[in-house]
Amino acid sequence: MGYRRGKSLSRDLEKQSYDRETAVGTKGMVVSPHWAATDIGEKVLKEGGNAVDAAAAIQFALNVVEPMMTGIGGSGFLMVYDNKKKDVKIYDGHTRAPKGVHPEMFLDEKGEVVDFRKRSTHGTAVGIPGILKVMDKAINEHGSKTLADLIQPAIDAAEKGFKVNWVLEEALQNFQYRLGKEAKAFYFPEGKSLKEGDTLVKEHLAKTFRILQKEGISAFYEGEIAEAIVSNLKEEGGIMTLEDLKNCRLTIDEPIWGDYKGYKIASSAPPSAGGLTVIQVLKILETFDLSQYDARSWEKYFLITEAMRLAFSDKIAYSGDPECSSLPIEGLLHDDYIAERVRAINFERRNDAIDFGNPWKYQDGKPNQVIRQPDDLEKSETTHFTVVDQWGNIAACTSTVEHPFGSGIMVKGYGFLLNNELTDFDANPGGINEAQPDKRPVSCKSPTILFKDDKPILTLGSPGGPTIIGSVFQTIINIIDHKMNLKEAIEEPRIFASAGPLIEWEPGISMEAKGEMESKGFEFGDKPSRIGNVQAIQIDHEKGRLYGAADSSREGKAAGITEDQIKVS
Ligand code: GLU
Repeated sequence: MGYRRGKSLSRDLEKQSYDRETAVGTKGMVVSPHWAATDIGEKVLKEGGNAVDAAAAIQFALNVVEPMMTGIGGSGFLMVYDNKKKDVKIYDGHTRAPKGVHPEMFLDEKGEVVDFRKRSTHGTAVGIPGILKVMDKAINEHGSKTLADLIQPAIDAAEKGFKVNWVLEEALQNFQYRLGKEAKAFYFPEGKSLKEGDTLVKEHLAKTFRILQKEGISAFYEGEIAEAIVSNLKEEGGIMTLEDLKNCRLTIDEPIWGDYKGYKIASSAPPSAGGLTVIQVLKILETFDLSQYDARSWEKYFLITEAMRLAFSDKIAYSGDPECSSLPIEGLLHDDYIAERVRAINFERRNDAIDFGNPWKYQDGKPNQVIRQPDDLEKSETTHFTVVDQWGNIAACTSTVEHPFGSGIMVKGYGFLLNNELTDFDANPGGINEAQPDKRPVSCKSPTILFKDDKPILTLGSPGGPTIIGSVFQTIINIIDHKMNLKEAIEEPRIFASAGPLIEWEPGISMEAKGEMESKGFEFGDKPSRIGNVQAIQIDHEKGRLYGAADSSREGKAAGITEDQIKVS
């Protein structure tokens, strides 16, 4: 039997959580959204491993303890800063579309877009998972340990069992509808949801990890695991073939670079629109000098809302896979274009006319056609973690199965879930983000590193689909403009606006400022909700200190390493 019912563990008292979620170190730091994964990463660093080693071990561990958010059936962007070479690269293992996809695959016989829940839990939503390619390549290029070593702690956790936490329990309750038959039977034994405190053993996942340990990732892309994926998908209407899995490839990309108030920012590059949009929002905001306003003032909420609305209108119009279309990256960040966008902000009242602009005026290229999309996407929630090692290298990874529990399709006998990332393609074809074979859908993942005087001083990221961008830039302005410490910057309640009419908001924002915003024409959602889950590390080069902080919206943990804790072999 794979589970044991247990007593509900009471949630940590606020003080205890705070202690768990913050840490100071001198020779390394690990921050992840689950304490058990942080413990595993911390052990890797203490045993002399580096940031990439720890990141790989965390990724495997999260597949066990946070299976609704990430896993080998998904994808991710890993940003690696190599402190010796002073070089930042992005290992892009974003999902690609199988050869058999076509631009109309999310339309029904009448040509209408299939309802989101239906299209996101169907076999056609599943993209070719790339996260194993990322981890394998990054370990080969930067790691000091083997994938076989780094997957072992996750095998132990899966075989011995782990305690279900409130985050998993809540996800099971809220997203039960996403689970396919296999996943439902596993997470709802005897028809009842697993609860906080239950012990869950994952024999099948452990078996899969043992295969990877022995045979390497080729077992996933060409061997028995590949065969299981393809045959499971066939039963769910999927189109992925063995050939598709065999041809899976990653790219190693330069980040997108930007500046904000004297800090250099490196963030994810297309097909993630995340980095570009974070930088665009910050460039718009730089004109207004937010530091003169209180963090909870209406002025700040007003400016960041309009900046998000402007940047998201552009994001929706101009994002795509750079292998398939030319993108107006230069135009979007061009100073004159930013100045043009800033003029759309009328600091008296919401500008109802905000829409996408024309960055192609500032860059050569062939303007793309913009196709409007249905506003029916549900918010995705995945995972971010980050590590700094004793040599000053950084790994920052946002990885995902897309929506909670991905497509809900669990590979029979192998214990992992397949993503639904192809729903990030436009459902209405004709634009640059339409589904096409071998193409990658637009992502918002934004692993980000800030530099001051060419030294890294902050690494951060968040899950949350489009809200990732909002969470990342708000944490940055909280630190730079509002002079908050790292934990305060993460906990400060966030708001989020895209091109739609409503502002999402977290509990704790100023109600007075909200009222003022409403009087200026803005509309807020009825109820507050959680936005993102930021994991970050700040590096103080002068003091030789590392500060880590995990977001209280999950059971995250920061663990700092000191010199005496590192085993010298
Ligand atoms: N759809 C998301 C993206 O790639 C998945 C990541 C997330 O939601 O956290 O942008």
